[in-house]
Amino acid sequence: MKGRPGPLLVRGTLVDAPHDPFTTGAPLRVEDDGGLLVVDGRIADRGAIADVRRRARDAGTAATELDLRGGLVVPGFVDTHVHLPQVRVIGGLGLSLLDWLTDWALPEEARLAEPSYAAGVATDFVHGLVEAGTTTALVFGSHFAPAVDLLLQEAERVGLRTTAGLVVADRVLRPELLTTPERAHAESVDLSSRWHDRGLARYAVTPRFSLSSSPELLDACADVLRDVPGTLMTSHVNENPREIEQVAAAFPQARDYVDTYDRAGLLGPGTVLAHDVHPTDAGLAAMAAAGSAVAHCPTSNAALGSGLFPLRPHVEHGVRVALGSDVGGGTGFSLLKEALQAQFTQSLLGPDGLPLEPAHLLWLATRAGALALGLGDETGDLSVGRSFDAVHLRPRAGTTTATVVEHAPDAVAAWRALVALGTTSDVAGVWVRGRRLDGDDDVRHDHLGDDSGQDDEARRARRPVG
Ligand SMILES: [Zn+2]
Repeated sequence: MKGRPGPLLVRGTLVDAPHDPFTTGAPLRVEDDGGLLVVDGRIADRGAIADVRRRARDAGTAATELDLRGGLVVPGFVDTHVHLPQVRVIGGLGLSLLDWLTDWALPEEARLAEPSYAAGVATDFVHGLVEAGTTTALVFGSHFAPAVDLLLQEAERVGLRTTAGLVVADRVLRPELLTTPERAHAESVDLSSRWHDRGLARYAVTPRFSLSSSPELLDACADVLRDVPGTLMTSHVNENPREIEQVAAAFPQARDYVDTYDRAGLLGPGTVLAHDVHPTDAGLAAMAAAGSAVAHCPTSNAALGSGLFPLRPHVEHGVRVALGSDVGGGTGFSLLKEALQAQFTQSLLGPDGLPLEPAHLLWLATRAGALALGLGDETGDLSVGRSFDAVHLRPRAGTTTATVVEHAPDAVAAWRALVALGTTSDVAGVWVRGRRLDGDDDVRHDHLGDDSGQDDEARRARRPVG
């Protein structure tokens, strides 16, 4: 990583969701002509631009002004469930989970045994996240330890805040993806000892799902959690009825799917389980008691026909929920699209659904994920004290999205329009700890193409203040 830039004075329309709208009813927080003073990558002051600029000047802080007016400045997106080895096979539509895994995803995952192939996938994957405005991700790594190393190296080089781990399985999957409890433990401890809490990287113990895990493998995973303090745990749960039946048959002693993890000691405040489309009350109660979180991946649930996510009982039980893209079961890296699909899903549930307002959608895509990953002090909103992890959403001139955003009566309506219409091409800038990820040589950005004029304009807009 390069060194940190000097103090920045960021000017723009600031929109974030610092308080849980599900429990507090809090609306979005908006600063229309707002300013953020960023020192050493961290937000040191915020408010109206004139006030922040004056306070910086009075304190003798020489800050470079970064003019992000036009569009919105929102916290960087937090993707709580995304698979490294599936970036090149996004789009396997029309299959249900177990067939999709066997016929579509796992053959590609096996290719990551070859380090040169895995290196290319890691580059594509990190690039895809940054292009979508994701600044923090909980990543399902690979079944091959060298591929996990390559991912974390690439994330470190680019500056993406990444938690990832070795995916382990010892049954059901194709043979080259299987390990043993002993080897899983040794490789996981080795990776986590080198990567956990190194810069922006952290480690997550990652059994693929109970269906492909013996009880002994789950025990080995719990040993890693104990041996390397602070590591997270992530897996899948209650995604598909056929999967759930097979898990019940494989774990006859378990009360339900959640219990297969709980009885192994894998349920805690650092646990993030993807999907939970078909929960049980007992499972929800267990997750709430443990402080575990659910990664809700709505485009994946639709693409694989998994079902409509019952958000209401999760909220009523006090289970934390955040968004994940579930690439490549999901349909891309954009959490704008996931937010839209989450809104659709609740609408389609009719009276059982939980209507989602703009504040819920931004919360689910940002702050909720930061809290689920234990990064609440660090990221997820634009409060003083947080890292400046942010996205500038500015549609290209001449697009329908630009038209709707320009005519939006206020910033909340603009955010609503960006959820409905926005794509990765509306991401005009991405920062983590005050450092731009997408606009320099650290990330391939040939995709910017006709955006390059915007970038030059943004660079020209940097000028000293005071
Ligand atoms: Zn998944």
